Amino acid sequence: MPNTTSPECLFCRIIAGELPTTFVYQDSRLVVFDDINPQAPTHVLIVPRQHIATLNDLRKDDDGLVGEMTRRAAMIARDRGISSAGYRTVFNCNQGAGQTVFHIHLHLLGGRSLTWPPG
Ligand code: 5GP
Ligand code: ZN
Repeated sequence: MPNTTSPECLFCRIIAGELPTTFVYQDSRLVVFDDINPQAPTHVLIVPRQHIATLNDLRKDDDGLVGEMTRRAAMIARDRGISSAGYRTVFNCNQGAGQTVFHIHLHLLGGRSLTWPPG
């Protein structure tokens, strides 16, 4: 398993417990925590424990992991009561899309109306 953790990576440090963070959910493969700068009433980040820098670095072996991330987002949306009204999930990939933390993470945003297209 390449790039399992990166000591320079903010999210690897959060996962390692080096930075005080409340986990909304965690299991052996994923952690979920609130975004520090929420853009909606619900704005959580679904993050694999494995360090993968961008979506471009995914391998076929990661297909199951990404599926777990997506389904976890749907489960959290259900738990927050936003499933029916609707919510958005976003992976930003590289600077042009606004990626600022280079450890993949799925944003789950909801609890308000969300316009399209995004900026
Ligand atoms: P990106 O821009 O890479 O798609 O998303 C990174 C997200 O991480 C941003 O929404 C940003 O607010 C969030 N973030 C950055 N630093 C921290 C932090 O130290 N703690 C938490 N909880 N979120 C962070
Ligand atoms: Zn990392």
